[in-house]
Amino acid sequence: MNYLSTRGHPDRKRFCEILLEGLAPDGGLYLPERYPQVHTPTLAKWRDLPYAELAFEILSLYIDDIPPADLKAICAKTYTPEVFGSEEIVPLRELEDGVYLEALSNGPTLAFKDMAMQLLGNLFEYELARRGAELNILGATSGDTGSAAEYAMRGKKGVRVFMTSPDGRMSPFQQAQMFSLQDENIHNIAITGVFDDCQDIVKAVSNDLGFKRKYRIGTVNSINWARLLAQVVYYFAGYFQATGGNDKPVSFTVPSGNFGNVCAGHVARMMGLPIHTLVVATNENDVLDEFFRTGIYRVRVAADTHETSSPSMDISKASNFERFVFDLVGRDAAKLRSLFVDDLGSQARFDLSGEPAFKQVAERFGFKSSRSTHADRLATIRDTEKRFATLVDPHTADGLKAAREHLTPGVPMVVLETALPIKFAATLVEALGHEPARPARFEGIEALPKRVVKLPADVEAVKAYIAQNCD
Ligand SMILES: *Cc1c(COP(=O)(O)O)cnc(C)c1O
Repeated sequence: MNYLSTRGHPDRKRFCEILLEGLAPDGGLYLPERYPQVHTPTLAKWRDLPYAELAFEILSLYIDDIPPADLKAICAKTYTPEVFGSEEIVPLRELEDGVYLEALSNGPTLAFKDMAMQLLGNLFEYELARRGAELNILGATSGDTGSAAEYAMRGKKGVRVFMTSPDGRMSPFQQAQMFSLQDENIHNIAITGVFDDCQDIVKAVSNDLGFKRKYRIGTVNSINWARLLAQVVYYFAGYFQATGGNDKPVSFTVPSGNFGNVCAGHVARMMGLPIHTLVVATNENDVLDEFFRTGIYRVRVAADTHETSSPSMDISKASNFERFVFDLVGRDAAKLRSLFVDDLGSQARFDLSGEPAFKQVAERFGFKSSRSTHADRLATIRDTEKRFATLVDPHTADGLKAAREHLTPGVPMVVLETALPIKFAATLVEALGHEPARPARFEGIEALPKRVVKLPADVEAVKAYIAQNCD
């Protein structure tokens, strides 16, 4: 399998070449040249496979530069009941007639990002050892991504993590999750500033090509193809559990920010998984909902990006959206460039409302969308506790509300549970008046010793810290 850039660069690459890379050289995103097709007999064969073996089968269709036995071992090592809490790895439960929750948040950091990041950690360690190379991952986080990356890379040979976060601005639970890690290869850097300062520092360091090369700086952000690919697997696993023996279609609702998670659903659908509808659920930061309703994609400025109670969906633009639009415009790279380079570059928006392609968004690609507010989240959290004795986190609540707006009679609706409520305890308390239960292994983590350095919002200070800690 070869990979191309959405922006038309002539080079083709193999999986392990793009594994450790970010954007393509022309600023585009990597996609496979074609989507491998999965037909009914294959689905039947895969139906009863344990999750790790299902992952191996799907990944094998996209990865031909890792020997199969090695890839199988990597999947087996990644998706274990010890790490993900159950034999099913992503157990499905029925909430009400035809509406299901797929649990993706029982990994080490209690958010779905573990599903991909745990695999990435093992793939990185494997590939770096094979090359005799090292990698220093530099990132900025306001919560879920940073902790998922740290728990995936802790103790891995050849990898160090330098994770910046805004000092004092993460929830105490999230801080404790990250800062209590004592592994030598994990470096927490609390920046006296806001999340944007952290992101600016990461950008500035990555733009210093001399420094980047000398210190082998890399990232693990959501545009990484391997992360997206790992997420394709749980759409198949959710489908098998929701259909229990027949091949009827299933719909999915996905709490969305950077469009990574739901883009994996799009890939699964393009492979032939019988997905009826893909519902994109957003919060008040409704860049995506606006596009799916109107055909206009309008990037927001910082001042128009709201801090909400589903913070992992607070985005000004959706970094993976370009992948879907590439398929939507018939994989026409020139057209894609006119939208993402010319239109977004000059006006921070593009408009497909008058074009035939926009009709296909729903008709051919199955997308729908909804938007929620803080009041909706509180109401959904309360209602879900009252009627089903189940607690959901604010992101999953955005999903549940959206799902109910797009039900199709006779088609099971699977809502992806993207985090556990304990991560967002303050909002649960606001909705319910009590704290959610805490898994035993997180009891008292706020009191553990913390490993973190505090640095000013200054690029040179961060560079100096990295240089000191890479010998
Ligand atoms: C990251 C995240 C999301 C958004 O996922 P995308 O892939 O960026 O669309 C939703 N919910 C939670 C809890 C997250 O951590």
